[in-house]
Amino acid sequence: ATPRARALTEAALRRWPLPALGADADKESRGHVLVVAGSREIPGAALLAATAALRAGAGKLTIAAPEPVAAGLALAIPEARVIALAETRAGGFHASGCEALAPIAEGVSALVMGPGMLDEARSVLFVRELLPLFRHSTLVLDALAMSVVHEGAFAQPVVLTPHAGEMAHLSGLAKEVLCGEPLAVAREAARRWNACVALKGAVTHIAEADGAAWRFDGGGPGLATSGSGDTLAGLIGGFAARGLPPLQACAWGVLMHARAGAVLARHYGPMGYLARELSAQVPALMHALE
Ligand code: AMP
Ligand code: MG
Repeated sequence: ATPRARALTEAALRRWPLPALGADADKESRGHVLVVAGSREIPGAALLAATAALRAGAGKLTIAAPEPVAAGLALAIPEARVIALAETRAGGFHASGCEALAPIAEGVSALVMGPGMLDEARSVLFVRELLPLFRHSTLVLDALAMSVVHEGAFAQPVVLTPHAGEMAHLSGLAKEVLCGEPLAVAREAARRWNACVALKGAVTHIAEADGAAWRFDGGGPGLATSGSGDTLAGLIGGFAARGLPPLQACAWGVLMHARAGAVLARHYGPMGYLARELSAQVPALMHALE
């Protein structure tokens, strides 16, 4: 029989501590996150993911965004280096933009890609070109960037963060079928795409390629808000940059995201807090687990 999914709790995270650091540790020792995200219509997705990566404790941040929004992002998040990339007519990432990222690829610990991305068909060509450059990084693929799963096997560790609609699009399964057996679907996707898959929703199922699986149902409905998933992807990227393997980074991200929502729900009420407010809660929540 297929083993059941284990419950994701603080106790699990305590068994997967964040890598210890000496008092003399510099920012390089907590990893470099590259966020490739945003578009003219949705620049804020890049901002949310990038902020979350820093709040998870990543040491260094670079954002790559389409040229028209790069300057705005740079001012909105002064902690980041921002690289402007060529845009497709439909507002996506043009494959030629890869060249601009080649010089920094070597030092990137975690690459978060997809939030706010437009133009699936063209952007996936860009994502595909980018993968070999980042073969030493952990990838966190979200939103449209996940469509690269159809382009061949990953050579690097990967986390995928689809919600049910995105999983339906990626797998070809009807949403009703998928929602009937989310654990099996997450497991099958993880196996087929050789990735750690977090199938998000009121219950989030996390599965690894070898069949190991975790279940989390502790988030409140206020988490279902615009930009929430972008923040989650950034958190996972931040934890991966700090040195956690994909499953652990994913588990830390999912739990910290939900606990941050719980803190905001106590303050504002269960509904109406903002995705941008989640990240600031994370450092104290992390510290409480040390
Ligand atoms: P996204 O749809 O990409 O913005 O991601 C939404 C985030 O909110 C994911 O982390 C989901 O797991 C979470 N979420 C969505 N709906 C609910 C719900 N009803 N209860 C708790 N968490 C939810
Ligand atoms: Mg999303």
